[in-house]
Amino acid sequence: MSDDHNPVPENGVRHILSLSGGKDSTALAMYLRDRVLNLEYVFCDTGEELQETYDYLEKLEAHLGKPIQRLNPERPFKHYLDIYRGVLPDPRTRWCTRMLKLKPFEQYVGDDSVRLYVGIRADEPRRKGYISKKSNIETSFPFIEDDLRYKDIMRILMNNGLGLPNYYKWRSRSGCYFCFFQQRREWVGLLENHKTLFEKASAFEKVDPETGESFTWIQGESLQQLAAPQRIAEIKKDYQEKMVRMKQNGVKSNTSLINVFTDEDNSQGSCLICHL
Ligand code: SF4
Repeated sequence: MSDDHNPVPENGVRHILSLSGGKDSTALAMYLRDRVLNLEYVFCDTGEELQETYDYLEKLEAHLGKPIQRLNPERPFKHYLDIYRGVLPDPRTRWCTRMLKLKPFEQYVGDDSVRLYVGIRADEPRRKGYISKKSNIETSFPFIEDDLRYKDIMRILMNNGLGLPNYYKWRSRSGCYFCFFQQRREWVGLLENHKTLFEKASAFEKVDPETGESFTWIQGESLQQLAAPQRIAEIKKDYQEKMVRMKQNGVKSNTSLINVFTDEDNSQGSCLICHL
């Protein structure tokens, strides 16, 4: 983003980058570090994040030489889950994003005029996302404006010694450990890497004793069912077959989860404040 084709407004406008703990918003932080004066870095902490996310943010903070402001929701996830009578959030309702991320962010911003920087890349310009729609928040897409693509984002992260967050070894995107945008293979990754968190997520699943309706993170399958050894073997086999198909279609054999799942339909409408 050069100042001549996209001048940064002055006087009374706050410049904010909301980090998700993912690769694109992190690369954007590095990209804007010396381009935008007085940029505020924030992270909306749901309290249900992975340790890898906190570690990555700390690493980024050291590289930026500036603190990342942590924004916390008024009450924890469980409080809102009770208010929603045990109905887990899903891609349609997304009450978790509203209550745990957007609300704290909008409170932090107040009525100030804000330019919010969003890390959607030039190779995903049609990606739509769930983001604050407040009229005092104007959005800016520097990677699209400057035609920066996947390989450029990776270069920024590697050249700065940041690399990728560790969870990318078993997961394709940032966000809460129980995020419903996860694929089954990623739930298996959670089980294998953070058994306690998997069990915690499983404990939120319930059957309504009155209606018999079940509230599960994955439609039609509970985490207990998913954790059965035979089911895990099936999920891993499906994943391997998908990798083979992708390889046949010209995708490199060392492709990781980060690439495998980014073409899934549900990533198109994921929450930009959570998954960039
Ligand atoms: S990461 Fe997923 S579960 Fe967490 S707030 Fe965002 S959409 Fe909800």
